[in-house]
Amino acid sequence: MEALLEDIVRDCAKYKALGKPADYIPELAKGDVNDLGIFVVSSDGQSYKAGDWRKPFTIQSIVKPILLLQCLMDNGIDFVRSHIGVEATGKPFDAINVTEGVLSAQHLNPMVNMGAIFMSTLIKGADHEEKFSRLLSLTRLLAGNPDIGVDEKVYLSEKRTGNRNRALAFMLKTYGMIEGEVEDVLDCYFKACSIRVDCKDLANIAYVFANRGRKPITDERLFPAEYAHYVNAVLVTCGMYDGSGDFAVRVGVPAKSGVGGGIMAVAPTRMGVGIFSPGLDEKGNSVAGIKALEELSQRMYLSIF
Ligand code: GLU
Repeated sequence: MEALLEDIVRDCAKYKALGKPADYIPELAKGDVNDLGIFVVSSDGQSYKAGDWRKPFTIQSIVKPILLLQCLMDNGIDFVRSHIGVEATGKPFDAINVTEGVLSAQHLNPMVNMGAIFMSTLIKGADHEEKFSRLLSLTRLLAGNPDIGVDEKVYLSEKRTGNRNRALAFMLKTYGMIEGEVEDVLDCYFKACSIRVDCKDLANIAYVFANRGRKPITDERLFPAEYAHYVNAVLVTCGMYDGSGDFAVRVGVPAKSGVGGGIMAVAPTRMGVGIFSPGLDEKGNSVAGIKALEELSQRMYLSIF
């Protein structure tokens, strides 16, 4: 398996420079397109890795499935389902999705920014700081890594320049979906996106979703299986931005990408995969990362379809 991952990293090297690091968050523009790493946690209890898997990066939108899980754990499926839709918007992740002066749960899904900013208000906590700290604890628990923290530079960079997300949050406020202070809600969201991880962390988190809520090796249950079904289903339809259909055809597993260059892929009952390569396509997905997953899926017959 490790030889296969080495092959994939070598084969996909030619795609690295076809993408470009995100630059709308100035700190992310410093990403090195030469990086490509992969880590696999497999159901046989083994882990395998290749390339730059140790390089840290910010989780960005890959925190959205964790946010969704936290919302489910705090409020249950019925509440979450009635407050936030599950249909793909077919629009970019930061689209202002308001039609004919109406904004409702059905305009949102948990994987677009508007949905994620809204979800930041639904998790439990006395204030935005407690909400964030609970989300960080859940991230550490899923990854089995108590050292996961926030990249302060990326957080401040995003807080300074994130006016598009400010616009989305004010839109939610206008339509009565945010009760508290917009800036507090955004602070929780920006910190969440700035959580620093590596490929191993993502693979461990993905494995828990693949194993329907149970940790690798010990099989300890962290959350009910139905929450894993819920999150995995949303990842299939909405996880890879408005490229989710193309990804389903080419790779065929629940996955989430982030503009930091990470991808977390969930192969149910089989494996969790973490990938990192900061060169993005125009939709915000890692170009070499998707190629690597495509090759892994073909070689290991991972597609669920
Ligand atoms: N922090 C990023 C933003 O809100 C996350 C976007 C992403 O990774 O898709 O713009």
